[in-house]
Amino acid sequence: MQNLQNPELKEKAKPSKEEAIEAVKTLISYIGDDPSRPALIDTPKRVINTYKDFFSGYESDAADVLNTTFEDIENDDEMILVKDIRLESHCEHHMIPIIGEAHIAYIPNKKIVGISKLARLVDVFAKRLQSQENLTQQIADAINDYLKPKGVIVLISAAHQCMTTRGVHKTGTKTTTIATKALFKVDDAKRREFLELIKKEM
Ligand SMILES: [Zn+2]
Repeated sequence: MQNLQNPELKEKAKPSKEEAIEAVKTLISYIGDDPSRPALIDTPKRVINTYKDFFSGYESDAADVLNTTFEDIENDDEMILVKDIRLESHCEHHMIPIIGEAHIAYIPNKKIVGISKLARLVDVFAKRLQSQENLTQQIADAINDYLKPKGVIVLISAAHQCMTTRGVHKTGTKTTTIATKALFKVDDAKRREFLELIKKEM
């Protein structure tokens, strides 16, 4: 799987927290405000702490999330579907939020994971600078690599605030991306069943 971090670069070039705080002060000055005015004094520190949460995916790993599996002997033909997983990411072009839902289904091949793990897996990749296309693919790849299922499908539907609040200002626009592996790539009936299930209220 693609490793988004270059460990050497991380060791050598990662700025300190103080340097990051200075950088935020520079941005505040750049937009025309005064970082030393009382209301803004603690803002750079808050921004850095917020970034720690927004981009916590760089500190986490798909392997840690998917390494505890259960042997599934009852079911190996039907899909396991987790839908409406809240997705919060940031676009890599503008560092502006991407907000939406992820829907994940896989057909197990003996191994299954706890349902909550799939939701956590979404965060491993979402909490980084992303494109929606790569994010969708990385989630599917991780499930494929670690669970070796008979098929995986990931569908993400999301609004890009870089489109809705700036640039073309198209509110209400949503982007849908799909990644499929194995059975879901070739089996139209399975893919249709997935699409039907995610549309239903249940
Ligand atoms: Zn963008």
